[in-house]
Amino acid sequence: MPDEVGLWQVIERKARDIFHRYGFEEIKVPILEKTELFVRTIGESTDIVEKEMYTFKDRNGASLAMRPEGTASVIRAYIENGLYVRGSVQRLYTIGPMFRHERPQKGRLRQFHQMSVEVLGSDRAMTDTEVMAMAWQLLQEIGLEANLEINSLGCAACRPSFKAKLQEFIKERLEHLCEDCQRRSVTNPLRVLDCKSDHCQEQYTSAPSIIEHLCGVCSTHFDEVKEALDLLGVPYSVNPSMVRGLDYYTRTAFELITTELGAQGAIGAGGRYDGLVKQLGGPDVPGIGFAMGIERLAMLLNQKNELESPPGLDLFLVTLGGAAYKKGFHLMQMLRSLGVRVMMDHEGRSMKNQMKQANKQKARFALILGDNELKNREVALKDMLSGEQEFVELATDFQNWAAAIKTKIK
Ligand code: ATP
Ligand code: MG
Repeated sequence: MPDEVGLWQVIERKARDIFHRYGFEEIKVPILEKTELFVRTIGESTDIVEKEMYTFKDRNGASLAMRPEGTASVIRAYIENGLYVRGSVQRLYTIGPMFRHERPQKGRLRQFHQMSVEVLGSDRAMTDTEVMAMAWQLLQEIGLEANLEINSLGCAACRPSFKAKLQEFIKERLEHLCEDCQRRSVTNPLRVLDCKSDHCQEQYTSAPSIIEHLCGVCSTHFDEVKEALDLLGVPYSVNPSMVRGLDYYTRTAFELITTELGAQGAIGAGGRYDGLVKQLGGPDVPGIGFAMGIERLAMLLNQKNELESPPGLDLFLVTLGGAAYKKGFHLMQMLRSLGVRVMMDHEGRSMKNQMKQANKQKARFALILGDNELKNREVALKDMLSGEQEFVELATDFQNWAAAIKTKIK
């Protein structure tokens, strides 16, 4: 709704500003993709693919999906357009709607909006830290507090043996676990660790920790990431049971969580996905990224109510009489081309009503233009804050009117 959009604009403006400071470029990707793209990247046994994706057959019988997230589309575009030729590291972001068939509730919608950020071509720990620091800074600058939780999910060398150990552990307590976890223990055992059921979580307190099973390379990488976060003074905590829902993550995974939104506390999340580009038919380049939900940010900001309200008009043109109305109409056009936010009434309302309208639209000034004023070549300019009124002489040259008025009010 119009009175909510102001918040969105603040968030998006701030996000773009910060992303550009960190050397990111915007990319726009389509909403529709082949279903297969998401099945292959996100993974068959994830919530998104199993039960949340909007898919349909198009007129040719091809299965298409409304994108549930941004990373897969960005990588598809990166490969198809050979972006890796432009430079070995690409920093890209996209902002737009995502679609998931979830149970709608506060902070959980079927069409929601994400800012999605990706760095393709760097596996350096500093890159991970920089990306997390950027997400952190965005929250800081819009005035929100969140906890950064990080974990390492290992790589193809160390995750399989951890997975096997975890599977062993789950097997021993299978009858105490919820149905979802019983199913996941086969399809996607890591996912059991972030089960929302307290009962299951009780079982997992003694589960093996991925962090203790990292190979040397992953372990060093994780240490470097943490050290660099310390260096920048970005606060974080390590959460070994945070595994993220998507199959494609490797090594660093992170979430930004607030306690101020109840159950829907995740504001943003992301991680490294080193094998993904190659898996989709591109070059073997590593990647890391995150996504932030705009609705959740807006809800938080709304609760805080700390944002300045959007600016009103610079000027409202009050006209009286036919000749003044026409002149005013022309003047309004000229003022607008000079960058002035200006409105007037087209409905022939009384002067009193036009002034009311000026107030309602938070006009900083009102310019009163009547047929008499036109004849006398003088208009009244009213400062709507102080109530003071001054008379402005009109230049003989109509072209200079707008410029003269603009200097008066700006
Ligand atoms: P959750 O655990 O809340 O379902 P998720 O792990 O599915 O989150 P991601 O896929 O990581 O979420 O998406 C990143 C961010 O996008 C989330 O942190 C959240 O802010 C936002 N988001 C995800 N799903 C929704 C939704 N249905 N409605 C509104 N925002 C959403
Ligand atoms: Mg979800």
